[in-house]
Amino acid sequence: MKKHNYSAGPCILPQEVFEKSAQAILNFNNSDLSILEISHRSKDFIAVMEEARALVLELLGLENKGYQALFLHGGASMEFLMVPYNVMKVDGKAAYLDTGTWANNAIKEAKHFGETVVVASSKEDNYNHIPTNYSIPSDADYFHCTSNNTIFGTQMKSFPTTNIPVVCDMSSDIFSRILDFSQFDLIYAGAQKNMGPAGTTLVIIKESLLGKTGRTIPSMLDYEKHIKAESMYNTPAVFPIYASLLTLQWLKKLGGISAIEKINQAKANLLYSEIDRNSLFKGTAAVEDRSNMNATFLLHDESNAPIFDKLWKEAGISGLPGHRSVGGYRASMYNALPLESVQVLVDVMKELEAVCSVPSQLAE
Ligand SMILES: *Cc1c(COP(=O)(O)O)cnc(C)c1O
Repeated sequence: MKKHNYSAGPCILPQEVFEKSAQAILNFNNSDLSILEISHRSKDFIAVMEEARALVLELLGLENKGYQALFLHGGASMEFLMVPYNVMKVDGKAAYLDTGTWANNAIKEAKHFGETVVVASSKEDNYNHIPTNYSIPSDADYFHCTSNNTIFGTQMKSFPTTNIPVVCDMSSDIFSRILDFSQFDLIYAGAQKNMGPAGTTLVIIKESLLGKTGRTIPSMLDYEKHIKAESMYNTPAVFPIYASLLTLQWLKKLGGISAIEKINQAKANLLYSEIDRNSLFKGTAAVEDRSNMNATFLLHDESNAPIFDKLWKEAGISGLPGHRSVGGYRASMYNALPLESVQVLVDVMKELEAVCSVPSQLAE
């Protein structure tokens, strides 16, 4: 039986995406060829790329607003350097909000290109909240933030208003909730958290942001070259892009982001209310900043870990241990994780409570 997959990434995808992907590997569009062996310049794949790029903008409400969607390589980590390369001016500066490991990695790369101002950080509190009350220098070339902190389980519920361009790493919550996406000038996301399999990176750029740095940019790192080549400057990741398209089509059929947002809210409410109710558990993130995608929690008493681990494994749950830098548990509830899977986890947490409340077992 299919596991209840709480993996933080690569993540669970809709079952119909697995089925259609499997079919396309055997025979893509009745071409008697596998998607793994067709040319990326074939008519059928160009149609996939065009539909995927258009559907991204449609789902985010960014059509006809001067944005381009690209499917690139190198993961979100490559964007940590492509962003400053393409947007930070020579002798310019950039402003970053430090909300976790990934934000920190982005900051490290930006420092190679110029002055990098960290406007605020929650590092001293092991990133258990999103900083507030910071100011963004109005002379920076852009402000960079991370909408959802996959490792620490925090999520930005609102974004600062500023006169400078805003760049956002949305790897782990893109397409999960309604936002005014036009407040961002550049959004990027590794596919493998909430959109598709590993191997491609989605970048959405307002074209007016580009071409202002005064830098010479190597071709493969130049967003303008990728836009001009319609996201086919070199061989794109054909199969991951196809599987991403299938996921986007699934999302559209479901009713788009507003529909999935309701389901994601229901999943998060169900799990967090159990974390708060059940005295054996404790959430690690500040309540107001809790992520609807990655819920991080601990057992008050570590000695209950072996029995809890046994119970959730027996219930068919997979991928629950927390990131090695935080420990405890992390339930990643990406778009394709059904509400029923969250109910299974909540039932296991209640079962642990029942087991632990039997005095004879505690005495043993
Ligand atoms: C996973 C993750 C990354 C790194 O993604 P790669 O595609 O592995 O480079 C960056 N940012 C966030 C928020 C992530 O969750």
